[in-house]
Amino acid sequence: PADLFPGRSNSQGHDLSQTGTLAAIEAARAPLAAGLLPEASPLVAGDCAPMAAEEVKNPATGEVVGLVRPASAADIEAALGNARPWQADAAARAAVLNRAADLYEEHYGQIFAVIAREAGKNLPDAVAEIREAVDFLRYYASQTTEDTAPRGVFTCISPWNFPLAIFTGQIAAALAAGNAVLAKPAEQTPIIAALAVRLMHLAGVPREALQLLPGDGPTVGARLTSDPRVNGVCFTGGTDTAQAIRRAMVQAMDPGAPLIAETGGMNAMIVDSTALPEQAVRDILASSFQSAGQRCSALRCLYVQDEIAPHLTEMLFGAMDELRIGNPWDLSTDVGPVIDAEAEATIRAHIAKARAEGRVLKEMDLPEGLTGHFVAPTVIRIDSIADLEREIFGPVLHVATFAAEDLPKVVKTINATGYGLTFGLHSRIDNRVQEVTEAITVGNLYINRNQIGAVVGSQPFGGEGLSGTGPKAGGPEYVARFAQPQAKPHRP
Ligand code: GLU
Repeated sequence: PADLFPGRSNSQGHDLSQTGTLAAIEAARAPLAAGLLPEASPLVAGDCAPMAAEEVKNPATGEVVGLVRPASAADIEAALGNARPWQADAAARAAVLNRAADLYEEHYGQIFAVIAREAGKNLPDAVAEIREAVDFLRYYASQTTEDTAPRGVFTCISPWNFPLAIFTGQIAAALAAGNAVLAKPAEQTPIIAALAVRLMHLAGVPREALQLLPGDGPTVGARLTSDPRVNGVCFTGGTDTAQAIRRAMVQAMDPGAPLIAETGGMNAMIVDSTALPEQAVRDILASSFQSAGQRCSALRCLYVQDEIAPHLTEMLFGAMDELRIGNPWDLSTDVGPVIDAEAEATIRAHIAKARAEGRVLKEMDLPEGLTGHFVAPTVIRIDSIADLEREIFGPVLHVATFAAEDLPKVVKTINATGYGLTFGLHSRIDNRVQEVTEAITVGNLYINRNQIGAVVGSQPFGGEGLSGTGPKAGGPEYVARFAQPQAKPHRP
């Protein structure tokens, strides 16, 4: 197999059992906790006249943790007018992206403090996030080449659930190919985005090649995806939004302008009667409730073979009772808040409907005294994944049972959702693993393990159908999609 990591390796991350690590994070948090309000303003290569400041709130506490000044129409115009593809050769671009990765690692305390406060991530999730961001920078740096030319200007629109890793990954890929980037972070997480852009500028990315335009989708996002001066869009978020972006691009841009979209999932796991229950339970827990279920890759519908269902669910509910729900700053917290009031209301309404229908199998209690947007991990019985109308982006697991002879039908039903992001299979029958693997249409398939946390370079991430356009993030084809192919004759 091809070496996906020629001459480089993944970030080792930061060890939370080391007092030095915690001290650095605590030192970075202290001024923030004492009331210092970091600001995210547009970072434009030229004059800026942003809108009035708005508050950014901690989803775990409601506390104001920063201020954002959304980009005005004039800021967007200035950014479009000043955007210039990166005039540096491939080796120089790679060196700057690698330098940015080093800066991310050096500034980990500050990054952790901001991510935890702004996105409600617990510290293990924040560790994983910074590792992934660093991996994206170094991996895409390793993919720069003189064989292609930049397409021009790329709009990158990223989600709040990986406010550093996906934000950085999109930008790093577009920059690796030599483009100019207009970056619009999610409304909920502009502060970490501004910090990341400052670090990339500090590393040597020219200001004309990377500009930050905070704001919301309907105004800033819509403008940046419907302008003929933009040559491509990279988007991670909802399937509906990706479809709207596609329509806007068709109207405004050159027919060849690519949309690279990573969208929703309706992810299933099948656990058959030969699975090792202890391992299955651990992997179900991680897949469903880590990051409070707020990952595109998260498990939404578990299919358990009927004869082991009572035993497995009993074990699962017992394991759920051990989960600690709480403030992400508490090191013992397993499940933090969901991102905002709207997310909380949507997830709660879904649970309430299931409760009214008598389908809630397990609902944890929220600890006293939590004031933020918390939803307790919940398990809901369904007959089939086809019963789910939409992706519920939170700590809610749906469970269905199946009889052994119906396994092919189950796989068909999962494929029929039209999504195809992640899938998990727990089985110790080799033939079955082979058959299901061949029949299932998903981007990322995980056997006898959890189905989250794809590792850059070794587990390229991305789905099929309604889940995304490809190519996979963190894989060998990704950067090329941001470039004009064959600018020079291909070397044999
Ligand atoms: N790459 C992440 C994972 O494998 C998910 C990305 C997302 O949620 O968009 O867990």
